[in-house]
Amino acid sequence: MKFLLVLAVVLVAFWIWRNNRLNERPGAPPPRGPGKPVAMVACDHCGTHLPEAEVVRGQQGVYCCKEHRRQNEGSSP
Ligand SMILES: [Zn+2]
Repeated sequence: MKFLLVLAVVLVAFWIWRNNRLNERPGAPPPRGPGKPVAMVACDHCGTHLPEAEVVRGQQGVYCCKEHRRQNEGSSP
């Protein structure tokens, strides 16, 4: 009778372990997949292309870094 109890505990532990592994799944990052297209914009100073989310926005355009915004627009905020 004790053997059945041990077997049940082992099965439950295995089931929990398996569920945790399925939830973590290191191979599949949730929303940002490599196949998702990202809008690319070119720096108005040097022409470097970079994702729209990473651009530095200026009054006359977008730039790859604050330095290029400063060089193109003259003012440093
Ligand atoms: Zn640039």
